[in-house]
Amino acid sequence: MNAKIRLFVDQPLAKGNRVSLTQPQAHYLFGVMRLAVGGAVSLFNGRDGEWRGEIVDAGKRKGTLECSEQTKPLQVPPDLWLCFAPIKKTRTDFIVEKAAEMGAAKIFPMQTEFTNSERVKQERLQAHAIEAAEQCGATYVPEVTELRKLSAMLDHWPKERQIMFCDEVELGVATSLATVARGPWAIFIGPEGGFSPVERKRLHAMPQAHVVSLGPRILRADTAAVAALTLWQAALGDWSQ
Ligand code: SAM
Repeated sequence: MNAKIRLFVDQPLAKGNRVSLTQPQAHYLFGVMRLAVGGAVSLFNGRDGEWRGEIVDAGKRKGTLECSEQTKPLQVPPDLWLCFAPIKKTRTDFIVEKAAEMGAAKIFPMQTEFTNSERVKQERLQAHAIEAAEQCGATYVPEVTELRKLSAMLDHWPKERQIMFCDEVELGVATSLATVARGPWAIFIGPEGGFSPVERKRLHAMPQAHVVSLGPRILRADTAAVAALTLWQAALGDWSQ
């Protein structure tokens, strides 16, 4: 039976393992959710699947759970990166949260020529990804990287990784995802000001890059990220086995 509360813990999970709670986790379980010894929650760490954690010790600021049985094996999402140019804080949080729920394997905040943000709070974004995984029943948590420059990423781009280049201008011959192969992919979403002409020229020249249209209207970057993840997952991901 799966306990309905799910907690991410960065500790190894196996039968009989004991897990110590952080102070906020103890406060949430025992202070807010009023759980006590004998109760149970679902634990996952992104590596060992989901485990039933029996509460064996409950305090105001601490607590211990013991792993009794695995309730879900690790389910790794398809090898899909979401590379997006950060926008305003709350909308960037939204993009990270949706990417985690919708099955991105890794999330790259990407600094492009027209990106306004100089930096991102990587730890805060990672916490949003963890929270999204707790809420959506995932057993895997995508890593959110530090802000990377698009030009540097392209200088070392893995040749086998295809790019779904969401370009709202000069769509030219937009690729239909139904015609391309599965495998390692990345979705590219630009900032409010879009990709620069230099960036667009460079991407259009890359054999791995496929220009994909997200329809005739210009979408906000956060809307575009969700639309692109939906298209990709439905065509090539784990939404259609
Ligand atoms: N350059 C436009 C402007 O300044 O109004 C808007 C850029 S849009 C807000 C941000 C990103 O979302 C774009 O760089 C692109 O990656 C994606 N996007 C938005 N609408 C799109 C569409 N219809 N087709 C493909 N990509 C789109």
